[in-house]
Amino acid sequence: MGTYFHSVTLNEEKCRGCTNCIKRCPTEAIRVRKSKARIINERCIDCGECIRICPYHAKNAITDKLETINSYKYKVVIPAPSLYGQFKTMYTRNHILTALKQLGFDEVFEVARAAEIVSDATRKLIGKGELKKPVISSACPAVVRLIQVRYPNLIDNILKLESPMEVAAKIVKNKVLHEKKLDPADIGVFFLTPCAAKATSVKAPYEMEKSNVDGVISIKDIYLKLLYLLEHGTSTEQLETAGFEGIRWANPGGESLALNTEKFLAVDGIHNVITILEEIENDKLEDVEFIEALACSGGCLGGPLTVENAYVAKTKLKKHIDQAKQKGIEVGQTDKLDDDLVWTGNIEYKPVMKLDSDFAKAMKMLEDLESINNILPGLDCGACGAPSCRALAEDIVRGIANETDCIFKLREKVRDLASQMIELEAKMPPVLDRENDDKQEQES
Ligand code: SF4
Ligand code: SF4
Repeated sequence: MGTYFHSVTLNEEKCRGCTNCIKRCPTEAIRVRKSKARIINERCIDCGECIRICPYHAKNAITDKLETINSYKYKVVIPAPSLYGQFKTMYTRNHILTALKQLGFDEVFEVARAAEIVSDATRKLIGKGELKKPVISSACPAVVRLIQVRYPNLIDNILKLESPMEVAAKIVKNKVLHEKKLDPADIGVFFLTPCAAKATSVKAPYEMEKSNVDGVISIKDIYLKLLYLLEHGTSTEQLETAGFEGIRWANPGGESLALNTEKFLAVDGIHNVITILEEIENDKLEDVEFIEALACSGGCLGGPLTVENAYVAKTKLKKHIDQAKQKGIEVGQTDKLDDDLVWTGNIEYKPVMKLDSDFAKAMKMLEDLESINNILPGLDCGACGAPSCRALAEDIVRGIANETDCIFKLREKVRDLASQMIELEAKMPPVLDRENDDKQEQES
């Protein structure tokens, strides 16, 4: 099994072993042992849930620092549409995009614009009627990875079209190459991200060999600098090109609304996504044509690398959507890019949840797991550092934990040992008291 790149990491020094994160992880990828959390790398899908939940900020996402852009001669920024929801509504998209350029970029291209192109390609693909229904959006990389590790039967339902981020990077790179006649190695395209999963998908893409994006910068990291530029900015360039359809992608349901079908379902929040994926596996959603599943509650606006509360950001974004509607910017043009949008890579099942690749061995381990699980208290208290009693039973059969990691089993064991010692003590011969015995002998 190949190694995964992960943008979500743990800062051990900050971790207090509170176990808050273990139960929220959708793939049971976290254990707390010796008072420190540990991420089981193969299982982590970089959903960022643990970043959001950790009260001590011990979980982080690895992204690029702003200074990284200086390694390129020509610097391009492609902001996610969720960026627009982070600022007061008095700042238009042109204000925000101009401030971005003032941060040190030579060019800016809206990912929202590329989202419209992806929407158009999706409409056409679904229209051909050749896709397995329900079609599951591939816009959220954490959901795609979740399907890869937990729902292999749904891999064929994934929409195999490049993400708006990749399309944006490809378009702008081609444009710059054509217009500026630069060496491709001199052009650096940086995505401004609301989440960790996108950073992972750039470093380790599943849909292609190499991403078109050269770096990923967190919205959180540049927010204050951008705010300062907005507050002190004097000039504003005309930079917006996207229509409302593309901006709307930042909201749950935004991608679906562009598809001209009422038979869609939009779900956000990784645990709700799991419920819906299970419904699809159980053939309960036969009437649905398109599923838009987003790992973060509130969609990309609720990403762990954003600044604003997702609900507040949604209200702010609405203003930008309405403004784009009023301006009547043309939407849905795809030019000749359609064919280029289909994935060149293949999504493979990653059987990281399997007990063993040998079927007979896996069955034996499963049997052992069930018997261990039966003797555990079933309280799922998390005090052992595993998310549930069953997960501890699994760790025991995998050889990475012991029964006595369960405090109830440990207490039982201590109690048993204590009563065994009392029993043993009762069976012991009386203690020899030579001094007293000698005295008594002399007196008699
Ligand atoms: S939530 Fe997890 S990572 Fe954060 S302090 Fe608690 S155990 Fe450590
Ligand atoms: S990023 Fe998500 S999958 Fe990875 S350890 Fe955190 S909660 Fe689990």
